[in-house]
Amino acid sequence: MLTDKHVVVIGGDARQLEIIRKLSTLDAKISMIGFDQLNDGFIGASKHTLKDIEWSTADAILLPVSGTSSDGKIETVFSNESLVLKVDHLQQTPEHCVIYSGISNEYLDNCVENSKRSLVKLMERDDVAIYNSIPTAEGTVMMAIQHTDITIHRAKVAVLGLGRVGMSVARTFSALGANVKVGANESQQLARITEMGLTPFHTDHMKEELRDIDLCINTIPARVITANVLAEMPLHTLIIDLASKPGGTDFRYAEKRGMKALLAPGLPGIVAPKTAGQILADVLAVLLTNQTKK
Ligand code: NAP
Repeated sequence: MLTDKHVVVIGGDARQLEIIRKLSTLDAKISMIGFDQLNDGFIGASKHTLKDIEWSTADAILLPVSGTSSDGKIETVFSNESLVLKVDHLQQTPEHCVIYSGISNEYLDNCVENSKRSLVKLMERDDVAIYNSIPTAEGTVMMAIQHTDITIHRAKVAVLGLGRVGMSVARTFSALGANVKVGANESQQLARITEMGLTPFHTDHMKEELRDIDLCINTIPARVITANVLAEMPLHTLIIDLASKPGGTDFRYAEKRGMKALLAPGLPGIVAPKTAGQILADVLAVLLTNQTKK
């Protein structure tokens, strides 16, 4: 239970509502900032502004998955109020207060460092990334269906990268009957791809391996689908780039060549916000339970 824990939730989207619901059930005291247009009432949760919140009692601060912008703005879909996190806010919290965010950037890192608080980047955790790969794979299937005129079954699909997302995506498309090959650069990953019953190839041979592909799904966060690679791919190939912005595709060249290449960030929040929120809520509940007061 989280009885006596004060959690300040600032901004966010539908995923935050699942988190609030779960933490509220666990008896945490929740203060919500940037939710003035939200009609739902949550037991044990109250609405506040950045000015009237009692920072000195906050045990944890929860930011949205996107964290803050490069100038400290926090996105919220439940308010028109402009929310800017400042180092001064964090300095007013007790020393044990932990900041939880999906991702971070230089602004947020500096705020946390200058206030001598600690930051947990939820999206960097293996458990969150693996659970999140499930709605990501489902969202990729949705996009493949929407943007092609062929079935996934028997389509020639290449997945680039065998990390947390790549593995789930490769397995999902294979289960739908696609002919899946996976590009990786480590020998143990190539061995794993073989073990999964899929066709492995080394990313050094990308250009040759993508010459007859119907669908190419990139999960490698580096420029790997270069103009050189694109120049030899069939014109009908659909590219779905899942890697974080700016993706791994030379989108300018793909467009020039008349190929459809789509950058698809944030699929879990788009296709399954409730599940994506529950994934975060479950992990946060454990982290907050284990967070000891000094
Ligand atoms: P991950 O577990 O780190 O996997 C990335 C994979 O790419 C690893 O296998 C890594 O191999 C490989 N890789 C990295 N640089 C490479 C290079 N230059 N050449 C060849 N392989 C390379 O990351 P993840 O959790 O799967 O996430 C992958 C990307 O998807 C990230 O950018 C993440 O932000 C994004 N993502 C997007 C969505 C969405 O909705 N679109 C959802 C979740 C995540 P090594 O381990 O050998 O480096």
